[in-house]
Amino acid sequence: RTVYVNGAYVPEEDAKISVFDRGFLFADGVYEVTSVLGGKLIDFEGHAKRLERSLSELDMPAPCTMDELLEIHRELVRANGIDEGLVYLQVTRGAADRDFAYPVDAAPSLVLFTQSKPGLAANPVAEKGISVISIEDQRWGRRDIKTVQLLYPSMGKMMAKAAGADDAWMVEDGAVTEGTSNNAYIVKGNTIVTRHLGNEILHGITRAAVLRMAQEAQMQVEERSFTLEEAATADEAFVTSASTFVMPVVSLDGAQIGTGKPGPVAARLREIYLEESLAKAI
Ligand code: PMP
Repeated sequence: RTVYVNGAYVPEEDAKISVFDRGFLFADGVYEVTSVLGGKLIDFEGHAKRLERSLSELDMPAPCTMDELLEIHRELVRANGIDEGLVYLQVTRGAADRDFAYPVDAAPSLVLFTQSKPGLAANPVAEKGISVISIEDQRWGRRDIKTVQLLYPSMGKMMAKAAGADDAWMVEDGAVTEGTSNNAYIVKGNTIVTRHLGNEILHGITRAAVLRMAQEAQMQVEERSFTLEEAATADEAFVTSASTFVMPVVSLDGAQIGTGKPGPVAARLREIYLEESLAKAI
């Protein structure tokens, strides 16, 4: 596999980052994951905009222009022959002598790699849906910044696995924030409910697109907090992310949601999302 590291396309075994890189020492870095369908990038512009916002919230310089980033994405997709899969991008503040204060003159590190995922769109898991457990949200308070500080979500995935479930929904002050690596939704009657934006959740690029498409399809959308009790008695539930698109959730803490099968709203949104974003892919 060819990867991109600080200006060079190299075989993955030759890629190198300093042990003093602040991404490694402080999780002082941000990332994006963009999916690839039919060899094209889904919503690159959304991801590039969120990256700029993450960088600016952390006073981190951009490693290059967003046009250059698009070129690097395309070149890696081409070089690795990716038809369906993902492009992972990471920017860190770079290498500097270890100090909590930001270095004044470090050059940011930029790394990109691809993951081939055949069957990403025609994912059989979406036909069955996934199970989630609820866990306490113990992450830091700036979840709107897409940092590489992912240990708690990783622990959450392991808690889910240990409980025989697929993923976890995190709960804070009695309300669901989001999934370990996705935004969370419930459906009550004709209304789709998902948490409002704020510092408590990541502003999902897929979330923005799906809510827009839902409104265009005359579905009702409420952006507000919801409790586990509401989720337990919902007609349907689902999650969204760049790598899973719209994924039905069919059980919560061992109890089935609705019929225990993927619901019509989630199925319809998955279809609309795939169709529209593929048509706009670049
Ligand atoms: N929330 C969290 C915590 C995430 O890690 C992700 C995926 N990175 C999302 C939501 C979904 O965001 P997106 O749709 O931009 O992939």
